This record gives sequence, C-alpha cells and structure tokens, in this order.
Amino acid sequence: MKSPVVRQISIEKKIMKFLKERLKDPHVSEAAKFALIKKVVGGLCCQCEGIPAKIVSYDVGNAQLIEKYCGKCFKKWKQREY
Ligand SMILES: [Zn+2]
Repeated sequence: MKSPVVRQISIEKKIMKFLKERLKDPHVSEAAKFALIKKVVGGLCCQCEGIPAKIVSYDVGNAQLIEKYCGKCFKKWKQREY
C-alpha cells in the first residue's frame, strides 16, 4: 500500500470563529452542530466527530479512502502510523 497523502484543511478565520461560537452555543442541538461542521468543512473528524483539520487519503486498489482528523486525533494517528 502506498503511504497516505495528508492535506491541510484550510478554513477562513472568520468562518472558523463563527463555527466555534455555534459549537459552544448550548441552544444549538448536537445534530445541528454536526450538520454545520459537515456543511462548512465537508465532514467530521472520523475519531471524535470534532472539527477536522487534516484530510488523509489512501489509495486502496481502485478506490480512494478518505479520512478526516481534527488536530488532536491527527497527532494520535501520526504516532500510530510511524
Ligand atoms: Zn478528532
């Protein structure tokens, strides 16, 4: 298997701030928070369902496997990998 490709997810500061504020808002339901992260970033961290910061893609035969990780889970993933 080829080694995975890691890409940084870049989110505009303004949008990130808005997102973080909404995630802290107790009046916003969990489901709405997840939906918002998915809408803004395109998915959730595959480990903790937080805001992802990195995209890791693997070539698996003819398909491409894509996983998203937040900063914290990415560090753990890296330790596991190397
Ligand atoms: Zn995470």
